[in-house]
Amino acid sequence: MNFDNVNRELFSFLDHSPNAFFAVRNMCDLLEQAGMIRLYEGAPWSLAAGRGYYVTRNDSAVIAFRIPKADYTGFQMMASHCDSPVFKIKANAEITIENQYVKLNVEKYGGMLCAPWLDRPLSVAGRVIVRTPDGIETKLVNIDRDLLIIPNLAIHMNRQVNDGYKFNAQADMLPLFCEKGEESDSFLKLIASEAGVSAQDILDTDLFLYNRMPAVSLGLNKEFIASGRLDDLQCAFASLKGFLQASPGNSVAVHCVFDNEEVGSATKQGAAGTFLRDTLRRINRAMGRTEDDYLMSIASSFLVSADNAHAVHPNHTDKTDPTNRPYLNKGIVIKYSANQKYTTDAVSGAVMRAICRQAGVPCQTFTNRSDMPGGSTLGNISQSQVALNTVDIGLPQLAMHSPYETAGAKDTAYLIEAAKVLFSSSIEGKGDGSYKLVF
Ligand code: ZN
Repeated sequence: MNFDNVNRELFSFLDHSPNAFFAVRNMCDLLEQAGMIRLYEGAPWSLAAGRGYYVTRNDSAVIAFRIPKADYTGFQMMASHCDSPVFKIKANAEITIENQYVKLNVEKYGGMLCAPWLDRPLSVAGRVIVRTPDGIETKLVNIDRDLLIIPNLAIHMNRQVNDGYKFNAQADMLPLFCEKGEESDSFLKLIASEAGVSAQDILDTDLFLYNRMPAVSLGLNKEFIASGRLDDLQCAFASLKGFLQASPGNSVAVHCVFDNEEVGSATKQGAAGTFLRDTLRRINRAMGRTEDDYLMSIASSFLVSADNAHAVHPNHTDKTDPTNRPYLNKGIVIKYSANQKYTTDAVSGAVMRAICRQAGVPCQTFTNRSDMPGGSTLGNISQSQVALNTVDIGLPQLAMHSPYETAGAKDTAYLIEAAKVLFSSSIEGKGDGSYKLVF
């Protein structure tokens, strides 16, 4: 495994993916380069064995799949998410302060650590919806320069700040944009100029802040990496690389990346929506298979829900369960939760361990301390649309939901190897709990 090459490509993907729209566009570019054929949900599908395809929804979720043969066994899938906790720019964003400054009105998207957003260069990226002669169209914009900052209050004006501070999103988190000048609507004009349109033609926007600090390697031997959006673009990237590198097996390989995991997934492009189910059913019909064939194929399918996991924190070792203690660079984390916030059970955990063994990569386990509720992810949410054997995994990281997170330099490559095995393999159901694993 060439960890340096993997990280170089990962860093480029992270730096060019300030939010879900860009992550999906960059994944589509890589799928296109690999010869995958673009499909549209609003057009008919004619599919052929031996070919690979991809389809997007809302420009912020993507499913790619490769059909090995018409009588395939099932679907071998990995699902991750491409959104991250962030501040969204509100409509009518400009707020003038004492006729001197202009700041931007923002609101929270998801649950972030607030403090690390302060005192660092930020910028804005997202989509604008533009008027056309016969309707509307989407343009992605990224103001690719240091543009904004959310300044802290000096310690002299808040002496108790280091004893704990409650951040108020409306009062504390609005970024400074510019000095107040003669012009009005400077922000919208900047966005319009970046999009190559006039401000009057912009009908609406979905724009988000992002941290300008690029991804880096660090540590004595460069054993760590740090970047924004490692949760969950690290898994999305590994899933895509494994998908592109896998050799076809007996099952349809399916790489899915959903939006809106950080706000509960209940959108058309989220894991609670119908995107995956619609896509699998269309594959089934396009390959001339019956409804019974579909249900039989789901019984011989496997889903890996891949979303980053909490590693043991060097300053807070007591926050981790006493016997399930993931560390950076020690491999893929299989996540367990008795109340099924994580989907892993003995069957799916065993299959995932077999995949890791076949791939020659290490795995480790995570459960929350029994006195801590922990987070949740998209695996159990997607079960209401497509119910099948599912395992929840992730890559170990620190500072989850910070705009600058830390992870291991080796773990991305481990997940690529495991994804390759997953996407090349098949799981033939022989009744509940008994499966033939074909690697
Ligand atoms: Zn996540």
